[in-house]
Amino acid sequence: MPLLKYKDEMRLAKWMTGNPATVDTSATLAESVRVMALRNIGAVLVVNGDGLAGIFTERDLLKVLAVDAADVLEQPVSSFMTANPICAKADEDYNDVYMKMKVNNIRHIPVLDGEQPVGIVSIRDLTHLYQNKLESDFQGARKQLERLRELLGESDASRVLTLLKEIERYRELSLTDELTGLFNKRYFMDRLKEEVARARRNKQCLSLIFCDIDHFKKINDTYGHSVGDLVLMEIGGILAGQIDELNVISRLRKSDIVARYGGEEFVVILPETDESGGFLVAEKMRNAIEKHIFRIEKSEVKLTMSFGVADLYLESGDFKELISRADEAMYLAKSSGRNCVKIYSLGG
Ligand code: GH3
Ligand code: MG
Ligand code: MG
Repeated sequence: MPLLKYKDEMRLAKWMTGNPATVDTSATLAESVRVMALRNIGAVLVVNGDGLAGIFTERDLLKVLAVDAADVLEQPVSSFMTANPICAKADEDYNDVYMKMKVNNIRHIPVLDGEQPVGIVSIRDLTHLYQNKLESDFQGARKQLERLRELLGESDASRVLTLLKEIERYRELSLTDELTGLFNKRYFMDRLKEEVARARRNKQCLSLIFCDIDHFKKINDTYGHSVGDLVLMEIGGILAGQIDELNVISRLRKSDIVARYGGEEFVVILPETDESGGFLVAEKMRNAIEKHIFRIEKSEVKLTMSFGVADLYLESGDFKELISRADEAMYLAKSSGRNCVKIYSLGG
């Protein structure tokens, strides 16, 4: 299992949302729902002073339906929250937390450091990590079956192989990249095509960021490919704002699309954003990566990325042209010494 090699990655703290949204126990239902809506989240922690009193989730909202009172929204959230919820610790192994959530059928779990709430984890935050684990289990099972097939000939084993091929076919239809949990190239291409068409229709701008890890080969060569994979997961988490040490997520809008383009290349579609807006987002991402410490086998490793930004010229050019412009700008960033953001300009 590659994940075991990279112990720190298994700690829940790596994958939780720090600085979770909180409301006081005296807050009204209306205030609490407003916080959830504004931050676009499915749960808020309810705190009493420094300690956790409960969690209020979308599911708890259903309780409101049972109350026959006109002022229900003005009632305290504490009447509707789940008190003494199941919690996790920041240094817990994410597999254990994932199982705990599955078994108890919960979608959001507060993360405590002692008594202090330090984060929140949604099952979605962990699913993509788990998918990676399933993937390696899946590959292991496949190898075993292939061996079995050799031993048994074409009988039962071949039926199971047919089934596995079917599963594989469904995976190919998937929209997400299995390693990072980000959108995959297929989805990205479809969406970019759509977004370009929409921008043209509405005469709006649109920009695209293309980025590539600097000297990534060195990571693979030094630590092995499976550690390289984990670094890619972590980079994906930073770009998507899940690992949010510098508040990158505050720079991303819900409509922005972060995808893995291939290997160690990532792309971000920014609708209704011009190239200077795109530059700011890319610069924020570049900074977040540069500052991030990758803890690999007891060493602290630093990485950088090069970014290219291009925007849609309203007069001409299709989505493929936009990709090649952003790609070209990224290569300019590489040839300018890496760890920088370049904007595509006509005439180079
Ligand atoms: P540069 O700064 O010029 O981009 O240098 P680089 O070493 O990052 O660039 P290069 O394109 O030479 O190497 C990219 C490396 O990324 C080579 C390849 O082995 C590695 N890579 C691509 N996809 C994956 C992947 O899925 N997992 C791992 N571990 N490595 C990958
Ligand atoms: Mg590359
Ligand atoms: Mg590279």
